[in-house]
Amino acid sequence: MAEKHYDYFVIGAGSGGVRSARIAAGHGAKVGVAEKSALGGTCVNLGCIPKKLFAYAADYAGAFADARGFGWATPEQIAFDWPTLIRNKNNEISRLNGIYKTLLENSGVEILGGEARFIDDHTLEVGGQQVSADTILIAVGGRPRIPDIEGGELMATSDDVFFWPRMPKKAVIQGGGYIAVEFAHILHGIGAHVTLLYRGALFMRGFDRDIAKSLADEMSKQGIDLRFNCDVARVERKGEDDFIVHTTTREALECDLPLAAIGRDPNVEPLALEKASVDLCATGRIAINEDYQTSAPHIYALGDVANHHNLTPVAVQEGHVLADRLFGNQPERSVNYDNIATAVFSAPPIGTVGLSEEEALDHGHKIDIYVSSFKPMKHHLTGRDERSLMKLIVDQDSDKVLGCHMMGADAPEIIQGFAVAVNCGATKAVLDRTMAIHPSAAEEFVLMRTKKG
Ligand code: FAD
Ligand code: NDP
Repeated sequence: MAEKHYDYFVIGAGSGGVRSARIAAGHGAKVGVAEKSALGGTCVNLGCIPKKLFAYAADYAGAFADARGFGWATPEQIAFDWPTLIRNKNNEISRLNGIYKTLLENSGVEILGGEARFIDDHTLEVGGQQVSADTILIAVGGRPRIPDIEGGELMATSDDVFFWPRMPKKAVIQGGGYIAVEFAHILHGIGAHVTLLYRGALFMRGFDRDIAKSLADEMSKQGIDLRFNCDVARVERKGEDDFIVHTTTREALECDLPLAAIGRDPNVEPLALEKASVDLCATGRIAINEDYQTSAPHIYALGDVANHHNLTPVAVQEGHVLADRLFGNQPERSVNYDNIATAVFSAPPIGTVGLSEEEALDHGHKIDIYVSSFKPMKHHLTGRDERSLMKLIVDQDSDKVLGCHMMGADAPEIIQGFAVAVNCGATKAVLDRTMAIHPSAAEEFVLMRTKKG
C-alpha cells in the first residue's frame, strides 16, 4: 500500500521534470517529484551551465593575448588556477540548486530524494517509501556513453571533467559532436594539449559542412590536434594518472585525460519499466506518441529520455506543454519543433537555425546560397588569424530563408534573433530590406548579395 498518493508524480527534477511539476502544481494538481541526485538535472549540474562557465574560463586565454593589440600590457606568462575554477563553479551550481528547491517548494511541489523505480503501473518506490499517482511523468534524462572497447572504462566523461581533481595537461578526446568540440575548446583554453579523434571524414555531423570545415580550420590554427578518420582502439593505464590511448591508425597517445564524448544513453534501466508496461523504441529511448504518452496511457515521458533533440529548451517546453494539457485544460498547446536553433560553444562558437545546404538539397529544394567569410574587425588589431563564416540558404521558388548559419564571435547571440525571423518565414527580400547595425558582424546577414558558386 502506497504511503502517499499524487495527481501527478514526476520522476527526475531536471529541465523537463521541474518545469512540468511546477506548472502542474500551479494548475492545482497535487504534485510530487523524485530526484536521485541534485535538483536541476543535467543542464544545471553536469551540462549547459558548468560547461558555459568553463567555456568562459577558456575564452580568457585568447582575450589576454588579444588585449595587447589594443595597448594593454598583459604578461606573457598568465597563471591559471584549476581548483579556483572548480570551487567557484561548484558554489554557483549550489546557488542554482537552492533556487530550484525554492521554485519547486513555492509552487507546492513535494520533493522526494532518491532513485525511483516502478512497483506497478501506478506505484513507485522512492528512497525506501512507496508512492502512487494517477498520472506519472518520466523525465530522467540521460548519461554519458562509455565506449565498448578494451580499457573503455578508463576513459573519463564530461561528468568527470567538471570535478577533475588535477589541472588536465594532455587530453585525448574521442568523438566529433557537441561535447567533443566544446571540451576541446575548454581544455585547450585552460592550457592543456588537446588531441581530438573523430571516426569520420569531418566532425559535427548534421551541421552545415562549410561551417564544420571552418571550425576544423580554426581549431587546427589554434593548435588543437584534430585527427579525422581516426578512432580510439583501446586504452591502457600507464601510471596512477597517466594513460595511453591506442588509435585505429596505430599510434599510441599518452595523456592524463582520456575523454569519451560519444553520445548519451537514456537513464532507463533502474526504472524497472517492465513493471509498468512502458516500452522502449529501437534507439533505447522511451517510445512515446505525439502527446508524450508511453505504451501505458497514464504514463508520459519527455526530454532526453524520449526525444532525439537533447536540448534544455526542448525538454522545458515539452514539460510545460504537457502540464498545461493535462492540468490546465489547454489541449491545443503544442511544442514547435520547426527550426530549432542551436549553438555550439566552441572557439569560435557556432549558431545555427534551419536547414544546412546538404539538408536543403536532400529535401529537394532548389536553393541559392550566400556565404560571407571574413576576418573580424577586432582581429586586424589583435593580429589573431581567425575568420568568421556566415551562410544563408534560400529557397529559389519562395525566396524563404531555409537556413541561417554562423561560426564566429557571438554566433549564439546573433542566431537567436535570426531564429525568430526564420520561424516567421522571413524571405531573403525581407533581410535585404532590413537596415544594418554598423559596425557589427551580424550586419553581414542583411548585406549578403553575392551568391555562392
Ligand atoms: P535531465 O536534465 O538530465 O534531468 C533528469 C533528472 O532525472 C536528473 O536530475 C537525474 O538525476 C534524475 N533521475 C534519473 N533517473 C532517476 C530515477 N530513477 N529516479 C529519480 N531521479 C532520476 N543543452 C542545451 O540546450 N544547451 C547546452 O549548452 C547544453 N550543454 C550541454 C553540455 C553537456 C556537457 C551535456 C551533458 C548536456 C548539455 N545540454 C545542453 C543538454 C541538456 O543538458 C539536456 O538536453 C537537458 O538537461 C535534458 O533535460 P531532461 O529534463 O530531459 O533531463
Ligand atoms: P553527439 O551525438 O553530439 O556526438 C557524438 C559523437 O560521437 C559523434 O561525433 C559520433 O560520431 C561519435 N560517436 C558515437 N558513437 C561512437 C563510437 N562508438 N565510437 C566513436 N565515436 C562515436 O553527442 P555528445 O556526447 O557530444 O552530446 C550529447 C548530446 O547532448 C548532444 O547531441 C546534444 O543534443 C546535447 N548537447 C548540447 C550542447 C549544446 O546545445 N551546446 C552541448 C553539449 C551537449 P558520428 O557523427 O559519426 O555518429
